[in-house]
Amino acid sequence: MTLALEPVVPTTVPATLNTRVPLVTGESVEYANLDHAASAPCLAAVRSALDEFLPWYASVHRGAGFASQVSTKVYERTRERVLRFVDARRTDTVIFTRNTTDSLNLLARSLPRHTSVVLFDTEHHAALLPWRGTDVHRIPTPRTRLAAVSAVDSALAACPEGPRLVVLTGASNVTGELLPVREIAAVARRHGARIALDGAQLAPHRAISLRELDVDYVAFSGHKLYAPFGAGALIGRSDWLRAATPYLAGGGATKNVSEDGVVWHSGPERHEAGSPNTVGVYALGVACEQLSADWDAVTAHEEELLTRLRRGLAAVPGLSELRLFDDDGDRVGTVSLVVEGYEPGWLAAVLSAEYGIGVRDGAFCAHICTRRLTGGQQALRVSLGLGTTAEHVDRLVLALRQITARGA
Ligand code: PLP
Repeated sequence: MTLALEPVVPTTVPATLNTRVPLVTGESVEYANLDHAASAPCLAAVRSALDEFLPWYASVHRGAGFASQVSTKVYERTRERVLRFVDARRTDTVIFTRNTTDSLNLLARSLPRHTSVVLFDTEHHAALLPWRGTDVHRIPTPRTRLAAVSAVDSALAACPEGPRLVVLTGASNVTGELLPVREIAAVARRHGARIALDGAQLAPHRAISLRELDVDYVAFSGHKLYAPFGAGALIGRSDWLRAATPYLAGGGATKNVSEDGVVWHSGPERHEAGSPNTVGVYALGVACEQLSADWDAVTAHEEELLTRLRRGLAAVPGLSELRLFDDDGDRVGTVSLVVEGYEPGWLAAVLSAEYGIGVRDGAFCAHICTRRLTGGQQALRVSLGLGTTAEHVDRLVLALRQITARGA
């Protein structure tokens, strides 16, 4: 199959990431990066766009020089690109941040007083923890999607009067399962509540439409979206953000500073004090454009490999997959697993040293979730992306079969 999107693999760009890695035997193999959920390697198109832009980056909004004008244009045009990427409403705003964690913390600081927050306890810590000082209702995640929708309904009904926000991940970073976002958004709307989507794991895999989902905010990170580290976005309704105390205080966020006080911007700059990450933001925008050019190709590539992976894993003795829900539903190419009798950290080290495979082990910044699904243990996570090939998947399956055949 041909992908319109070329990930950075040795055949397309002399890459530094998906390249050969040394094995413990002294040989080398092509690196099988099965850790896309942590960070995804740069798309070739992002990389070449960056090459062109690097000589021109400069501080935005503050210079008459050519480079500054170019950078300002690129930065502001990226706002439009990012709004298009999530099919935002005409009145929505986008604030550039460092990553999803930063975006959700910004939203947490921007809530009106006495906002109640409703969320599942299996969220990634970036979505679980920023709501300090708020009335937080943490719901133990039920075992079916239908029950999850009713649980949010009941939690919202029990909230005190006042503003309410539901915080929900689009796709679990532990199991890859999609949450029933549309249904939960409908429940939120019935209660007059808003809903914020943690899109860190959904945005690289599926088109997001704020309009269709009827979601108020979405947050995501460039480094999980095939762009480099350091840039993320919070997109959504502007009223709370416009009224909030600036997230950071400093240059760029102010209209005027005098002996008498400060007049802050009311637009997105209000929360973007300091010299912004123009390069990272540009890369994020290019990645958004690239992915939206061919979502069908992105999904088809991943589904094919996910089926291959799950079929292969099913034949590994003692292996079980972690699942949030008992009902089958849509999912992205992330699978966490445990193999009876094998410590995930040890398995990950052997996969790296002997097979040149990169996976993640641990509790994935979702401690409650991982511990609950493993009965208090940790797990091994395999996550696919545009750089994944069938050979990578087959190598992992073969490796797990060989390791378990040898015995611990
Ligand atoms: N939310 C989810 C579901 C994630 O998987 C992650 C990162 O793994 C985050 C939030 C936080 O992303 P970042 O570390 O880029 O802020």
